[in-house]
Formats: sequence, C-alpha cells, structure tokens
Amino acid sequence: MPTSYQAPRRSDSERSKEVSQSAASNLSAGTGKVKDIIRKKGDDVFSIRPQDTLGNAVQLLSEKRIGALIVADANGTLLGILSERDIVRKLAETPGRTLPQKVEEVMTANVEVCTRDEPLISVLRRMTEGRFRHMPVMEDNRLVGIVTIGDVVNHRLNELEFEALQLKQLIVG
Ligand code: AMP
Repeated sequence: MPTSYQAPRRSDSERSKEVSQSAASNLSAGTGKVKDIIRKKGDDVFSIRPQDTLGNAVQLLSEKRIGALIVADANGTLLGILSERDIVRKLAETPGRTLPQKVEEVMTANVEVCTRDEPLISVLRRMTEGRFRHMPVMEDNRLVGIVTIGDVVNHRLNELEFEALQLKQLIVG
C-alpha cells in the first residue's frame, strides 16, 4: 500500500454528496418567459360566445385542431374557458343530450391567466398544481395569446438541447 494512502474518513463521503448542480437549480435556470412562446407561435386566440352550443364548440375545436376555447362576450371580455375535458365529462353525464347544451353551463368561469412577462417555470408550476393545460395570456385586460403545457415543455426541451450542444462544443470543440 503506498504510504500516501489515506483511509476514507466520514467527512469524505459527506463532501462527495455536495454538488454544484441539482435538478431544482437546473430547472430554475430556465430563463424563458411567456413572450418567447407568443413571439414564435403568434397571438391567435380562438373564442366562442357563452350562448353558443357545445356542438358549435366541438366543430371549432376539431376545425382548428386545438384542445380549448376561450369564452368571451362581444367586447372580447374573458368569461371562461372550455376544454375538451369539460365536453367529455358532459358527454358521460348526459349521454345523447350534450351537444345542444350552452357553453356557459359547462365552461370553467374562474380562469387563471398569465402575463407576457411571467417566467415559464412559474406558468408550468401553476398548470401542474391546478391540473390544467391551457393558460390565456392577458395584457391590459386584453387577451394576447394562449400557451399550452405542450408549448412550455417544448420550449424547455429546446433550451436544454441548446445547453447540451454548448457544453459539447466546450468539451469536444
Ligand atoms: P385542460 O387540461 O386545459 O384541458 O383543462 C382541464 C380543466 O381545467 C377543464 O375543466 C378546463 O375548463 C379547466 N381549465 C383549463 N384551463 C384553465 C385555466 N387557465 N384556468 C382555470 N381552469 C382551466
């Protein structure tokens, strides 16, 4: 055994547990904001009136290939949100009588919204905790877009891929 050998001490294993990076610190390192998604995706918001029927809603959802509609009045005031989940639930509750029902009877009226400047990590947390996948974006009481949980996850994946590439270039050249 070389004379310089040192038997491991308890403090060594403690030190080996110390890391400069953790999942939490890395996640919070995501610097993206809602406006980064809106800039790429655009500010299209598909909306429906409260007096429209679920039949109208189903047609619009299918035509636009989306999962939720904003419920707004003629002035564009946000009154609620109607997602495919709400319609599926109604279909189970009232089989054969669902499509003629009014949007306002089925929508969620208490809508959580975000601003363009909100960090994506915060939006992702609110969506996960509230168990919903759509977040309308409001600025000065005006709807300026909608982000989905898919948009947020995609954005983060792209960020992570870019970070991985930068690290590779740093190491391999
Ligand atoms: P989703 O996962 O977005 O399809 O929606 C699941 C449930 O949450 C449905 O009852 C929606 O009406 C409701 N919901 C969707 N988005 C929001 C939101 N931003 N704020 C509050 N409720 C929502």
